[in-house]
Amino acid sequence: MNLILLGAPGAGKGTLAAYLIDKMGVPSVSTGNILREAVKNETKLGREAKQYMDAGKLVPDEVVIGMLEERIAQSDCQNGFILDGFPRTIPQAEALDRIAKIDCALSLEVPDEVIEGRMTGRRVCLKCGATYHVQNMPPKKEGVCDVCGDELVIRKDDAIDVVRDRLKTFHAQTEPLKGYYGDQGKLKSIDGTQGIHQTVQFAVQALEL
Ligand code: AMP
Repeated sequence: MNLILLGAPGAGKGTLAAYLIDKMGVPSVSTGNILREAVKNETKLGREAKQYMDAGKLVPDEVVIGMLEERIAQSDCQNGFILDGFPRTIPQAEALDRIAKIDCALSLEVPDEVIEGRMTGRRVCLKCGATYHVQNMPPKKEGVCDVCGDELVIRKDDAIDVVRDRLKTFHAQTEPLKGYYGDQGKLKSIDGTQGIHQTVQFAVQALEL
């Protein structure tokens, strides 16, 4: 299955994707993680993307579309994939329709106030992409990634004013994708406020896994 996870930044797409990888037997592809890795390694792509990411703005379509196309052409995506953070604009969705057949767009519904509370407590591992929350999902050892042992950090774009900008961007540019996939009969929506285990259950039911 080729699945898209839709939702505001902080809605829980990355966490849900990590659970669905096993259940679906396909990899998850996070454009945010690919871009953060590029920033960390100071590649040409990373230098181009950094200014947008730090400001909570979207990286231009032509940059992310090429990057995503290259990623899903790799062999591990041939039996399906879970997209986390792509598409984020209508032109990205149109480009995706030209390169792959999408089966379902699953929207995680979470109100802005809940998102704001979540994001200020978020900690991420820049090495392997695992995410934690100081209250809801703490690592076993404070500040250390359970998966790879690297240091956990607060993303620059999780600062409260940047979070508000990202939510604005989400409502203006990404939320219209619900209409786009709704018109194609591919949209499913689930409540994303109830904690990860409940969210996984809702997703499993909605996707009939
Ligand atoms: P995320 O981890 O998905 O929240 O992404 C972090 C940041 O990376 C976003 O705020 C954007 O600046 C950038 N980004 C990730 N995915 C995309 C995308 N599909 N289109 C444009 N920018 C993106």
